[in-house]
Amino acid sequence: MKAIKFEKPWDVACVGMEKPVPGPGQALIKVKTAGICGSDIGAFRGTNGLVSYPRVIGHELAGVIESVPEDNPKGLKVGDHVIVDPYLYCGHCYPCSIGRTNCCTDLHVLGVHVDGGMAEYFCHPADMLVKMPENMDWILAAMAEPLTISLHGVHRGGLKAGEYCAIYGAGPIGLLAGLVAEAYGAHAILIDIVQERLDFAKELGIEYIVNSGREDPVSVVSEITGGNMAQLVMECTGANACIRGSLDLVSNAGRITFTGWPKKETSLPTDVFTRKEIDIRGARTSAGEFEEAIELITSGRVDVRKILTKTISLEEAPETIIDIEKNPGSYMKVVVEMP
Ligand SMILES: [Zn+2]
Ligand SMILES: [Zn+2]
Repeated sequence: MKAIKFEKPWDVACVGMEKPVPGPGQALIKVKTAGICGSDIGAFRGTNGLVSYPRVIGHELAGVIESVPEDNPKGLKVGDHVIVDPYLYCGHCYPCSIGRTNCCTDLHVLGVHVDGGMAEYFCHPADMLVKMPENMDWILAAMAEPLTISLHGVHRGGLKAGEYCAIYGAGPIGLLAGLVAEAYGAHAILIDIVQERLDFAKELGIEYIVNSGREDPVSVVSEITGGNMAQLVMECTGANACIRGSLDLVSNAGRITFTGWPKKETSLPTDVFTRKEIDIRGARTSAGEFEEAIELITSGRVDVRKILTKTISLEEAPETIIDIEKNPGSYMKVVVEMP
């Protein structure tokens, strides 16, 4: 079979591999769609410190079950359409014991710590597959995983209807977070420095956009919120200036979630935590959020198709990854479609 492999940073190819054989408890999946993620571009550049090489990428996956153990816990059957939950956890550490499996102390993420599924076939624990509706579009199914990341940030931030939610970063995760916020009845304020991304977000129904290269987000957010500032600030860039800036945008008694991965440490004035009495929470991957993502997509409450830039074949993936690395502003979501 064919698979997309990073031999080392800056070295991507569509390679021939043995079709995988499922181990105990695993299902064999014929992959139908696989999304390309910003984190894959980080892995290509060698700037994602968690990735080891060589590595088959791909963690945004949907496909058809070709074989599955008969006694699998979810009662999945051959022919079922499934989405892959790509965060493998140990099940017995402290965070796992309280259901916070996404921050397992021995977390293995597909395409990062272990080989992913941007390939014709893939084996995965049957209990880590989420059944999707038979009539759900394969391309949209590959976008459920990035939606769970945004959803997790929104859940960690406890966003409620009527609140203001300021979001740093108009890439796929920030934009989807904004669409979730709107679907929850909150008011999204999306902040970025790329005007094209902001204009696009506005077209998709994001209520407020702020170009922080041209105007001061603090005064704009203050004006929008009548001086209260945002009850929730979501940081989806990992840029040190945005992490620092979240403290200025959050309301007193507000919440901040950090989803972006900074490359360097950020210095923060901790007196602001106390003075405003804010809750600062990390938000990493997702846990138990695939069902809601599928519901939001299939009901049309979050129209993920709007962020699809294009679909490509598996063979086109290497050249596309190279081009996304060069021109990241020209792409939102690209999905590999298999016959
Ligand atoms: Zn991803
Ligand atoms: Zn664990």
